[in-house]
Amino acid sequence: MSWENRILGVEALRPYLSNKSEPDFRSLVEGLARQQLAAWPMLRDAVAGLARVEYKKLSVRASEVLAQFNPQRIVSTAAKVDAAAIKQRPCFLCAENLPPEERGVAFDEEFVVLFNPFPVLSRHLVITSRRHIPQTMEGNFGTLLDLALDLGGEFFVLYNGPACGASAPDHLHFQACEGELLPMIRDIGTWERRILSKDSVVESFTLKDYRLNALIARGSDREALIDWFDRAERLLAEVTGAESEPMLNLVVTRDGDRWTVVVFPRDKHRPDRYFAEGDAKLTVSPAAIDLSGVLVVPQPDHFAKITSRDVEEIYAEVTLSAAAFDTWLRTCD
Ligand SMILES: [Zn+2]
Repeated sequence: MSWENRILGVEALRPYLSNKSEPDFRSLVEGLARQQLAAWPMLRDAVAGLARVEYKKLSVRASEVLAQFNPQRIVSTAAKVDAAAIKQRPCFLCAENLPPEERGVAFDEEFVVLFNPFPVLSRHLVITSRRHIPQTMEGNFGTLLDLALDLGGEFFVLYNGPACGASAPDHLHFQACEGELLPMIRDIGTWERRILSKDSVVESFTLKDYRLNALIARGSDREALIDWFDRAERLLAEVTGAESEPMLNLVVTRDGDRWTVVVFPRDKHRPDRYFAEGDAKLTVSPAAIDLSGVLVVPQPDHFAKITSRDVEEIYAEVTLSAAAFDTWLRTCD
């Protein structure tokens, strides 16, 4: 089935729209939710499953992290993402391989918004390219900003780099979810900051003594934020010696008239304990949502045993080391 057959327009979604006049993008996504929950049993079961996930509150260097026991996520947490495995599997983001009931809403000419049948948070969307092209931020940061703007303040938008969290590194995609539960979004509003640059257009800062190293920028000028990100990304590639895109995860929110961009620079994809045997093994594979404070743990015994200390160590291991982070911040100044 082609994208043309999967994309639902205003007329097809009309029965599912609460406001019958001219719906905006956000209303179309809401209509799609209703249509998909009615027509796609797999999504209905997954959303029902999400209501049953368990949380364990952990305090990691005085910030809250929610470990989430979510057995449905094993497909993603343990996804094989090496080049050989990727080559052998049919791409699950290409139109012809999606489940027959799956439908989407167009986002500009390039992207389609779909509902993730393995949700971590409510309204978990996958925004996929209509083309099978590699995962990259190059030329796409503006789309992240546009998505955050059009989805509105309840949502956050995220990007996982091809080597640090994307389960489909061969197919360009972003995700979005409702942000209500995400601890880091709350922390950004209240945590003590270390201001890096406060020019009139883009303000950048980090959180003091936070549980992991992240660089945050705020601003309401789209082009200025794109320039800021391009430069920060290029400097990160230099500091980390990356030959192509440096390993990073991104979270973008929209609040009032401005965007907030969180950049999580990475040292590695999966922690050593992911590959350990026996008691030491912890099947966690941190990406943007996990780093933002909802850490997915699909195995029941691992959920039972995971501690604040484990999470602190895993965050430190997979994100950029303090020394490299400081070097990066200095060059960004
Ligand atoms: Zn594909």
